[in-house]
Amino acid sequence: MIHIKKIGVVGAGIMGSGIAQVASLGGFQVVMHDLDSTIVEKGFDSIKKSLSIMMKKGKIDPGQDRKILSNIAGTSHIEEVVEGVDLIIEAIPENKELKTALFHELDIKSPQHTILATNTSSISISAIAAATKRPSKCVGMHFANPVPVMPGVELIRGIDTDDDTVEVAKYVLKRMGKEFYVSLDFPGFLGNRLLMLFINEAFNILWQGIGNREDIDRNCRLAFRHPMGPLELADFIGLDTVLSISDYLFNEISEKYRPSPLLKQLVTAGHLGRKTGRGVYEYETTNTK
Ligand code: NAD
Repeated sequence: MIHIKKIGVVGAGIMGSGIAQVASLGGFQVVMHDLDSTIVEKGFDSIKKSLSIMMKKGKIDPGQDRKILSNIAGTSHIEEVVEGVDLIIEAIPENKELKTALFHELDIKSPQHTILATNTSSISISAIAAATKRPSKCVGMHFANPVPVMPGVELIRGIDTDDDTVEVAKYVLKRMGKEFYVSLDFPGFLGNRLLMLFINEAFNILWQGIGNREDIDRNCRLAFRHPMGPLELADFIGLDTVLSISDYLFNEISEKYRPSPLLKQLVTAGHLGRKTGRGVYEYETTNTK
């Protein structure tokens, strides 16, 4: 098994910033990348907020926050990610063309031994891996949101993923303090195939005027014991991400995943949930963690 020292995280949004945080917590040297330095700084702001909550709850020791932050470098230059990197975890938007283009570039620029992982919520790992000349070293590591809080990660093996790559992914997840379960490489994997039906139906119920947003969510909290209602959860995930996953499952699996017109309308209007300050609900800040 190759020795993992440096981890690159590409995409510093909701998921990428969380992945960088837990990678640093696991003792790895981390480089977090996004398209420009302002977005990278926003990623660091999310990490700082999350660390301060963890500190208040006694989940990390005093001073550990500074150490976690100092292990993470930020950059908008992909060359700084790929240099001497052992594992890259991609967390850019849920779009097959974007992800395959990035994997193609990472394959050309990274050292030969580097493992390329994707945090995709639904897209075939084998299809993303096919954009590279190292499909045996590509794997799915599907973290849950918020990454520093949620313990479970789906590990997805593409058709060509080799045993060593899977073992390295398991080792890294253990060091990050995560538990994992293995899914076949089928659209939506284990979790989102279920979750997207549920969330999408909540949008349809709202769109049809059967109940208001608060009551749809309250019903799930009070009657099903869900910690969050489906509409709150959709805002938390990001409505653009929910729409991309639903569209992918609609095209790849069946009609039952057809995205709700209301979901589409909100995304078209730029109301993407917490990250933009408005989605199904309105938010005072764009705090995601
Ligand atoms: P996000 O919109 O918060 O962040 C995506 C980031 O990627 C943005 O900051 C964007 O600037 C950056 N980006 C776009 N193209 C890039 C490129 N070519 N190179 C570098 N950076 C680029 O999205 P997110 O919610 O963090 O989702 C990222 C991935 O994680 C998606 O595949 C999504 O399906 C998956 N995911 C999301 C959740 C969730 O709850 N949000 C949960 C599990 C998995």
